[in-house]
Amino acid sequence: MHQLSASTIDFLASTRPFLVNGRWQAGRQGGLLPCFDPATGDRMGEVHMATAADANDAVGAARAAFDDRRWRGKTPAERQAILLKVADLMMRDAQILAELETANGGKLYGGALHGEIPHAAETFRYYAGWVTKIGGQLFEPSVPGRQYHGFVRDDPVGVAALITPWNGALVSAAWKLAPALAAGCSCILKPAELTPLSSLYLGALLQEAGVPDGVVNILPGAGRDVGAALVRDPGVAKVSFTGSTAVGRGLLADSAQNVTRLSLELGGKSPFIIFADADLDAALPAAAEAIFSNAGQVCVAGSRIYAERAIFDRVVEALRAAADGYRLGPGFDPASTMGPLISGAHRSRVDAMVGQARADGADVVTGGRPVGECGYFYAPTVIVGAAQDSAIVQEEVFGPVVVVAPFDGDREAIALANDSGYGLAASLWTRDTSRALRLAGEIEAGIIWINDHGIPELAMPIGGVKRSGIGREHGLEGLKAFTEPRSVMLRL
Ligand code: NAD
Repeated sequence: MHQLSASTIDFLASTRPFLVNGRWQAGRQGGLLPCFDPATGDRMGEVHMATAADANDAVGAARAAFDDRRWRGKTPAERQAILLKVADLMMRDAQILAELETANGGKLYGGALHGEIPHAAETFRYYAGWVTKIGGQLFEPSVPGRQYHGFVRDDPVGVAALITPWNGALVSAAWKLAPALAAGCSCILKPAELTPLSSLYLGALLQEAGVPDGVVNILPGAGRDVGAALVRDPGVAKVSFTGSTAVGRGLLADSAQNVTRLSLELGGKSPFIIFADADLDAALPAAAEAIFSNAGQVCVAGSRIYAERAIFDRVVEALRAAADGYRLGPGFDPASTMGPLISGAHRSRVDAMVGQARADGADVVTGGRPVGECGYFYAPTVIVGAAQDSAIVQEEVFGPVVVVAPFDGDREAIALANDSGYGLAASLWTRDTSRALRLAGEIEAGIIWINDHGIPELAMPIGGVKRSGIGREHGLEGLKAFTEPRSVMLRL
């Protein structure tokens, strides 16, 4: 079993303050937010909890930092160097960050150390590269009888509120902070109640790297209190939210008052479509990985598998075998291949959805039950025979639960894939490249993988259509989510 490093033990030994205007502080109302280890259910740390009043202070600090240009006024090369330093510091402290993600977020330690932390650091490197390349556009306006020098600047939008979920806490924070800072914004990061620790640790690294006071403020606290206060604050120009569709809907309403710009990265129910001609040696393990990785708590999880009828039985059997082969256990145990769900409440919700599927007449091939005496483990679950319009096919479970259904031919595959209120991601598995490219253009999703699934690429936009969200992260689109075009016409 991996043992926590002395630095992590030290970090967890005291109640962690939050960050406003460069100062680490306790909440005005003195509330504490306990942090739990989902592998044991034990309390493993606590943080000071911010409230709406603290959110107000943080917006003021961020606004002041934006107005006096202490960040956006630095040269692009200076800002680039600081963001690169953030990435270096994250890699220096990768072990601590990975330990926090495992202890608080239930991650497998090896995956956090070698996957998520380097990816989060790489996000800062990627956007550091953009800082010196943000340009504008030059135009020759067509006003009769007058001559102009017309240009469009991409200016930072202002104060950005960044609201993140508990799954992949550090990666979500990096996906928002890096482009917001690259654009020149000041930020308030509101991590999820369940997983604030890695974001707070990142805050100290941002300071060490040289991000000026007030430019990044980090406020753990209740979503309906701190989060809602940020969304409604007229000082916040942009809200970038990742979380559930239900909360995202509420944010649309809350942001209406000030017409606050909003990016929403919401839930998904992503189809994984396997044609009979696919390389099954690659597709079948990938199908299991697409739903069971991180115990299914992944926004792009391949939670609906559609298999061409000729291979349906083989696909179901492969998934059953894969599900039964997982070894559930704490993320710090190198023998574990699947960690816990994030909380008891979430596990109850997952179990209730499986129970409803049974009641609706579906067959649970394997799994479908909580596992173990302590912690929030749930058996990897394979379901067949569910009606296409049933909740288990239509709603996001966010757990290790997959529905498998057969299809006949291209048309039915696309119809089933698109018969969903969500549209985040999808994958197509076939050796027929022409078919794959043709069908990729028909699937209603923000990202489509062909013969792969769930691979994030920082240079390419990711985000949802339909109830999966509005806007994109990553790439130039992810940067432009934090800029506003400003047209300037100089009469000659
Ligand atoms: P959630 O919606 O419950 O919470 C997300 C964040 O919103 C948290 O920080 C929470 O405190 C905050 N929040 C809650 N109520 C709020 C309010 N009224 N105003 C402002 N903020 C509020 O989601 P979760 O359970 O933490 O995360 C799981 C969900 O996130 C899943 O649906 C998953 O699909 C989604 N997700 C989507 C993506 C994506 O890229 N599309 C990525 C990861 C997770």
